[in-house]
Formats: sequence, C-alpha cells, structure tokens
Amino acid sequence: MTDHFRVVVIGGGIVGVSVLYHLARAGWTDIALIERAELTAGSTWHAAGGFHALNSDPNIAALQSYTIDLYQQIEKESGQAVGLHRTGGVELACTPERWEWLKSEWALFQTLDIDARLMGVEEIEAMFPIVNLDGVEGGLFDPQEGHLDPHGATHAFAMAARKLGAKTILRNRVTDLTQLPDKRWRITTEKGDLIAEHVINAAGLWARRVGHMAGIDLPLVPLEHHFLVTDSIPELAALEKEMPSVTDLDGFTYLQQEGTGVLLGVYERNPVHWCPQGAAWDFGMDLLPEVIDRIEDELLIGFERFPVLQETGIKRWVNGAFTFTPDGNPLIGPVPGLHNYWVACGCMAGFSQGGAIGLALANWMTEGDPGFDVFGMDVARFDSYACNDKYLADTTRQFYARRFSMAYPNEELPAGRPLKTSPCYDALKSEGAHFGEIWGMETPLFFVPDDPDFTEVPSLRRSNAHPIVAQEVAATRTSAGLFETGIYARYEVSGPGADKWLNHMLASRLPAVGRIRLAPMLSPAGKLMGDLTVSRLADGRFWLVGSYFLQKWHLRWFHEHLPKSGVRIENLSESWLGFSLSGPSSREILCELTNADVSNAALPFLSCQEMNIGMTQAVVARISLTGELGYEISVPAIQQRALWSALCTAGEPLGMRQMGLRALDSLRLEKAYGSWGTEFAQSYTPGMSGLDHFVAFDKGDFIGRDAAAREQESGASQKLVLLEIEATDADAAGYEPIWAAGHRVGFVTSGGYGHHVGMSLALAYVDREAAAPESPLSVHIVGEERVARVLAHAPYDPAGKKLRD
Ligand SMILES: Cc1cc2nc3c(=O)[nH]c(=O)nc-3n(C[C@H](O)[C@H](O)[C@H](O)COP(=O)(O)OP(=O)(O)OC[C@H]3O[C@@H](n4cnc5c(N)ncnc54)[C@H](O)[C@@H]3O)c2cc1C
Repeated sequence: MTDHFRVVVIGGGIVGVSVLYHLARAGWTDIALIERAELTAGSTWHAAGGFHALNSDPNIAALQSYTIDLYQQIEKESGQAVGLHRTGGVELACTPERWEWLKSEWALFQTLDIDARLMGVEEIEAMFPIVNLDGVEGGLFDPQEGHLDPHGATHAFAMAARKLGAKTILRNRVTDLTQLPDKRWRITTEKGDLIAEHVINAAGLWARRVGHMAGIDLPLVPLEHHFLVTDSIPELAALEKEMPSVTDLDGFTYLQQEGTGVLLGVYERNPVHWCPQGAAWDFGMDLLPEVIDRIEDELLIGFERFPVLQETGIKRWVNGAFTFTPDGNPLIGPVPGLHNYWVACGCMAGFSQGGAIGLALANWMTEGDPGFDVFGMDVARFDSYACNDKYLADTTRQFYARRFSMAYPNEELPAGRPLKTSPCYDALKSEGAHFGEIWGMETPLFFVPDDPDFTEVPSLRRSNAHPIVAQEVAATRTSAGLFETGIYARYEVSGPGADKWLNHMLASRLPAVGRIRLAPMLSPAGKLMGDLTVSRLADGRFWLVGSYFLQKWHLRWFHEHLPKSGVRIENLSESWLGFSLSGPSSREILCELTNADVSNAALPFLSCQEMNIGMTQAVVARISLTGELGYEISVPAIQQRALWSALCTAGEPLGMRQMGLRALDSLRLEKAYGSWGTEFAQSYTPGMSGLDHFVAFDKGDFIGRDAAAREQESGASQKLVLLEIEATDADAAGYEPIWAAGHRVGFVTSGGYGHHVGMSLALAYVDREAAAPESPLSVHIVGEERVARVLAHAPYDPAGKKLRD
C-alpha cells in the first residue's frame, strides 16, 4: 500500500529538519522527511557550525537572530544536546574606512534591535589573547555569535519533530517526482512510492537535481570551502572562559575556539565550483582533498593575524562543498508555475538561517503567508536567466570572493553583465551612460557625455558622480529629462472578467477608459503586495505597471488568484519598452512628434492614450515620478530605438538631457514619493506608507480589505515621513536608526541629496508621536549622528501644480 502524507520534505540536512520541525509545531503532523543516506549527509555534517546574527540584509539579520534563539529551546524540546557555545564574536576592522563602515553597520543593527556593540583595540586585546593587533582600528562585537555541533543540532530538530508526530525515513533516495492529475505528488523512491499533497525540496547539494525531477532549474551551485583545526594552544588552554570567535574581514578568515585549539576558515578570493549540477547520487559522507596552494595567500594573512598558528600543529583539514545563489541568500517558497512544490535550499549559512527558513516556510504553507518580509530569500526573486550555468558560475564566484568585502551603497559589481540590454543600450552608452543592473537588466544610472574615462569611485559618502547627477536634475527641472523605463514591468490584463478580477486584486477603484490610478495591492493580512499603476486602455483591457524585478513574484501572485476563465494576463515587460519624458518642456517636445492632441485638456494628468510618436505606435501615460509635467511612453521593444531617436531630435534643441536612475531618485525624494523595495514592501501597510489614500474602502470586497479597514480604525503605529537632514558630505542610504531625545523612534527607508532644493533628504518610518512636522530628530549617517527634522510637505512643488499644468 502506498503511504500518503500531507507534506514530504526531501533532504535531512539542517534546513530540511528545521522545516519538518516548524511544520509539526504549526500542527501539520501528517508529514515525513525522506533522506537518501543519514541525517546530515550533505553539507551539514562537516560544517564548522558557526552562527551569527549580523547580515547586511536587515530582514535576514532579524531571521538569523530567531534561528540562534531557537537552539536552546530545541535542545530542551528534543532532549538532544546541540553543543551550543554562545561565545559572542567580533568582526575586526583593519583599515580606517572599514572601521567607518563597521560603525555604520552597528548603527544599522540598532534599527533591528540586534544587540551588537563597538569594541576598542584595548578591549579586543584583553578578550582575544591570540590576535595580532597590527592595523586593527576596532571591532564590532555580536554577543549572539557562537558555534554548535552540526550533528547534534540536526538530530535535535528531527527528534523534536518526531515527538510532535512527524516521520523521518532514512537510507531511501527519492528518484523521481510526478504530479498526478489531482495535483498531488507521486514521490518515487528506491523503496517504493509515496503520495503527498506538498513536496519540499530541501536537498542541499542535490537540490538542482531534485528540481530537475519536477522540470525546473534552480539558481544554485556548490562551491568548495576549507577550514583547518589545530592542536591545543597554551594561551587558550589557560583561559578560564572560551574565547569568542573572530572574523578578520580584511583578511578573509574566521576563527573559532575548538576545544583548546582553534578552527580557522578561509573565504578564498579565487573560489572553485564543485559539481555544478549537484553532487553525484552516490556521493557519500566524504571530504574533498584539501588544496592548500590555492588558499596559501589567505592563510598567510591568517597566520599573521593569529601568529600563534605559526607554531601550532594542524590536526585536520576540511574541504567540503555547500551551495550558493547569485546573491548568497537561500531560495525558499512556492516555485512559480508548479502546484505545491516548495523549496528550502541554496542555503550557505544553515546554522545562522536554517531555523528561520523553517519558520517562514511553515507559516507560508500553513497560513498562506511567511509572516515576515522574506523577499530577500524568495525563490521568485530570480527568473530563469539566473539558472544559466555561466551566469551562475560568475555571480556565485563573485559573491563568495567578496563574502567579507565592504559593500558601498553606490557600488555596481561586474559579474553576469551585461545580460539583458534594451535596443537603445549601445546608443545610451555612446551618450556616456554608466549602467547599473536590476534583475539582469542594464539600466542607466547617470550619463557622462564628455569624459569616456570617468569612473565612479565606490564610497560611503557622496561620490564623484554627485555633480553629474546634479546636472541631470537641473535639466529635468528647467527643461526636460529622458529616462529609460527598462526598470518597469508591464502586464496587460484583458477579457470579460478583467474588471471584476482587478477589483478583487487591487485595493483602489479602477479608472475609467483612458485614465490611470495608483493602485496598492494587498495581502489578506493587509500588507503591501504591490504599488502598481493601473490604466484602462479600453473596455476590458488594462495595463498594470510595477517594478521590473518583481515580475516573477507578481505573476506568481496573479496566477494563484486567476479564475479558470475570463481573464488573460500577458507579461509585456520585455516586449514593450520605453522612456519617461518629464520636465516643463516635455509637452512641447511631444507636440513635435505627434498629431494627437496632447494639450492639458485632451491628455490631462493621470490619463493615457494610444498614439503615434514619430514613427512609433505608443501608449502614452501622463504620469511622472519626477514631480514635473511628464509622460511615460511605451512602445513595442523593436521600436524603442526609433522612439529614442525621435525624442532626442525633438528634445535636444530645447535643452533635454538623458537622465539616469540616480537623478530620478533625487527628483522623487524632493516630492516625497516612495518606491518599492524601500518605502513600500511586504512588511508595511497602507496606513503606514500613506498608500491608504488610494484605497477605496467603499468599493466592495477586495483582498486585504478587512485588515486594512482595521488598521484605519486603530491608526498605524508608524508613519512614513520625509526628513531633512543636516548632512554635508554623505546622505542616508537606508535602515539608519532615527532618534528623538535618546530614544529610537524609527529608521530610514531611503535617502539621497535633493539637488534642486539643496537638501539632504530621507524617507523614513517613525513612530506616530515622532511624525509631527518639525519634530526634532537625529539620524546616524556613516556612523555620525546628524540633526534631522520632519518636513510638513515635500520641498518641491508641494501642491503638485507642475504635474497637473
Ligand atoms: C566546510 C564547510 C564549513 C561550513 N561552515 C558553516 C558554518 O560554520 N556555519 C554555517 O551556518 N554554515 C556552514 N557551512 C554551510 C552549511 O553546511 C550549509 O549551509 C548547510 O549544511 C546546508 O544544509 P542543507 O540542509 O540545505 O543541505 P545539506 O546538508 O546538503 O542536506 C541535504 C540533504 O538532502 C539529502 N538528499 C539529497 N537528495 C536527496 C534525494 N533525492 N532523496 C533523499 N534525500 C536526498 C542529502 O543526502 C542531504 O542529507 C559550511 C559548509 C562547509 C562545506
């Protein structure tokens, strides 16, 4: 007889057992984990078992904190020791700039309530007797850091899950997956078939292969990783208390005490992939041969930082493999396009993240919502482009080699580029475009038309591109700026049921034919799922416009809610491209290129029309993120180059300039306009973000209505405000804490310099009490506290006259 389960988890590493445990804890106990060999038999058994709360993605840092806090509980629930050593740990800064960076990181962790603190050189010397302090400027101490026994932790999760009713099936490999006509999964194993409603791919080193069983590819690939373990070190043996862990960020090594010796791990700068399609099915619990020559340079730095290693014997070497994704974060969630196929893989820090992955996935499966903003780990943050072998190899190598590198807010990295380019790419490049990359798409950041050798220097402060951006802002405010809208996603929704369906999906009222509305989209819990604009081009034909990088995520959401018939969605994001033309001269430029009436009466603010622009057939939307009179013009991609030429010919005599994303950011901040990923995200609500102005509570039912209505009644506890900051050389970048009379009252979502108004500006969520205009606040920017005040209105054209004239 075939066994049936509600859920089958494939893979018994630290991630799979955590998922199993969290599902059982949520009350889903008719579940099983199936493991090819023994629990831990992938990357888990030979890991160093280190964990820490710090992560440059604040949402993920919060989840890491959860994972760490769980270990004691899991030990208690299971009765299995996890070998917890919560020693704390320090990250060293060995250059003045790194020290400045660590101070900014520290400020950021305060936003998250992560209990980290800065440490001076004397304190480091006292706490870490084997560290050579040459060049050390200071450190950031994380009291949550430590290490544990990977075997004990994995078995503890499994035992706790079994106590709640879950099953673990060992020494039985899954060989195939088939979706049955009733949508359940047949799981073929070496010892027979199982049937399950849901499958979860937690197959670690084999996850790509297990993906292939269901016809999908996953953007993850294994890389090798070395550490060594030494004999006893007298200085450590003499300590009364275990020495905390040390990460030498500028030296590419981490060190933790192991007995009375140490474990030293290396993030090599020339990392090497291993079995890119996944380990062989019969790969045992084996180590890879160590390749010491390859890591010699990093080891030499390590042996200088910890000189005692020069005279200590090495007891054992470990070279093992673990998986990486292009951005280093795991892949979790429902795979778009497949019913009840979930992933929990691509995890390179299982002991920092495994607990939280289990929690988020269990919430998602049992309640329909992960419960946190997990976009940074969501499998839908990538599309198939990221599964290309070369793209994966280049981006994962870059991530690994830069694991301990400083990240600058204005930095653009080279791997996997250029991949997606618009037909205007070369033309924009010849105009001096410097590009950034969003979801594989090259998008202009700024233009340097007259200096082909210009290079932007990565900086924590305002960069050498600052004056160039100022010129683009000035041109847009006085004449016109032309911005390529490759970073927009466009979806056409059509059919007899389109109206009804969109009314259910969107929280706003729908526009009349030829009109546009801003349309928040909500989850059932009343959290933001989108900040779209919706245009009704004709009866039963709508366009939705949103962020390019959310395509897969949005389409998964749309398809989950699509009725069986009557509504058609077409993703036009790459088949239609365009430009945003904005500034006081933009109507004059447009008039030169069309016979259509584009007067304010015929094409007012928030209206749209199909018309010819030059030789192209365009959809023109009278809308702009710059706060100026403006038009977003979309054409079939194949006509984009012709559109650009026409706009340049008409616009340049009137002073129009090409403009990049940086200028757009400055212009939108002067208008206090939020954008997705900073002000608007899954963890925020309409009431917090101000998007409640666009919610039509009286239009009837829509997703998230009840939760949003409850928030309207009680009032949101935090509000989005615009701050002016007294900063002269650096601007806020995001997540900096905000203080009022010594109390933390909020955090920055995004910031920058308002070039036209001459102010350092930041959008921020602050407690309701601190949101009143002129509230005196302070903000940490690059480690320094700066005076800030809440602005009552956007500093540029607060009445919105320019947009409407
Ligand atoms: C040398 C080294 C040191 C490390 N140190 C640390 C550290 O200090 N801290 C940290 O957080 N992380 C560390 N890591 C990374 C950590 O090991 C991984 O993040 C973690 O183990 C990943 O766990 P997992 O459950 O996703 O995958 P895995 O451990 O690979 O588990 C996957 C499981 O799935 C099973 N499986 C696969 N296919 C099938 C199938 N078809 N049927 C049934 N079962 C299947 C496998 O047998 C395996 O047991 C280190 C890694 C290495 C290599």
